[in-house]
Amino acid sequence: MLQPPHSSLQVADVPPQRVPDRDQDAPWHTEAVCRRDEAGLFFAPSKEPTAARLSREEAAKRVCARCPVMVECREHALLQPEPYGVWGGLTAAERRVVLARRRRREMELKKTARGTIAAAG
Ligand code: SF4
Repeated sequence: MLQPPHSSLQVADVPPQRVPDRDQDAPWHTEAVCRRDEAGLFFAPSKEPTAARLSREEAAKRVCARCPVMVECREHALLQPEPYGVWGGLTAAERRVVLARRRRREMELKKTARGTIAAAG
């Protein structure tokens, strides 16, 4: 499992076993704009107030917006799925919404395919 490219993480609220190992060989990883997240933008420090979290997440998203590997990073975070932090310009909550939409779309496609097969048979 990849660790986000942002390296100096403030992950006090993340159980250590959930922080994935960094995979320096990931091809997109080397181009990540956030390789040195010295501002600690991408993960929440413990007991972060809501207003501070929203401000930090927006700042992280601005970094992501100019990152050449945003699509790869986002897909990685969705496929894992990564439970914490900002990845590919999405917060964990936003990724959950995207994943729920994908699952719903897949179910609809399967249902349509079953209906098509039944009608043909
Ligand atoms: S999209 Fe954001 S989190 Fe992902 S590598 Fe780029 S800057 Fe880092």
